[in-house]
Amino acid sequence: MQLIMMGAPGAGKGTQAAKIAKKYGIPQISTGDMFRAAVKEGTPLGKKAQEYMSAGKLVPDEVTIGIVRERLAKDDCAGGFILDGFPRTVEQADALNEILKAQGRSLSSVINISVPLEDLIERGVGRRICRSCGATYHVKFHAPAKENVCDACGGELYQRGDDTAETMQKRLSVYESSTRPLIDYYKQSGIYAEIDGKQKIEKVTEDLENVLHSVKG
Ligand code: ADP
Ligand code: ADP
Ligand code: ZN
Repeated sequence: MQLIMMGAPGAGKGTQAAKIAKKYGIPQISTGDMFRAAVKEGTPLGKKAQEYMSAGKLVPDEVTIGIVRERLAKDDCAGGFILDGFPRTVEQADALNEILKAQGRSLSSVINISVPLEDLIERGVGRRICRSCGATYHVKFHAPAKENVCDACGGELYQRGDDTAETMQKRLSVYESSTRPLIDYYKQSGIYAEIDGKQKIEKVTEDLENVLHSVKG
């Protein structure tokens, strides 16, 4: 299964992609996670990405497409994958089609998690992430049993530097201008499905699984 999980910043892509990856045994490929790992390691890629990320802007297409191209060539993607946060521009979507075509495969499904704009800032600002295992929480909507401690591994939770109200606002406007057009792009492909992301996390997962039951290849 070659899947794309689409949605605005804070829509729940990462939360849902992690569950699908586990259930179907396919890798979750999050460009945001890959950039954050590079920033942490202080690599040249990380230094470049950091400038854009902290400003709430998109990392340039040629950089982003390059890391996804390399990632999709790895052995663990042979049985499928779930892209979380890529593509985010029409140029990235075109490049993805080419990458997959060269590999003799294509997308199975594009799932868009739809959440009203007014809910997204609160989702982003309340997001907390485990430093050790990367699990995602929310101070109000998905709180850990013990404040700032990961339920899964006991690790410390932190808030991303770009999850402030101000940078979320900027990211949402970038989403509107650069990423939302992809909805029409994929609607024409016949493999597009939309899910109501305003529902509780578990209900979104249920709807997602119902969509995936009817997806082939
Ligand atoms: P969210 O889903 O909350 O927007 P991500 O972790 O997916 O957060 O992305 C964080 C940041 O990483 C983005 O604001 C952007 O700077 C960069 N980024 C992630 N994916 C892409 C992409 N496909 N193209 C360009 N930049 C990206
Ligand atoms: P994205 O990857 O699309 O940016 P995340 O999966 O990181 O989004 O979710 C953003 C924040 O919203 C996280 O704090 C997460 O726990 C929370 N969240 C995810 N799905 C829901 C939901 N259905 N209802 C309420 N909060 C949610
Ligand atoms: Zn953890």
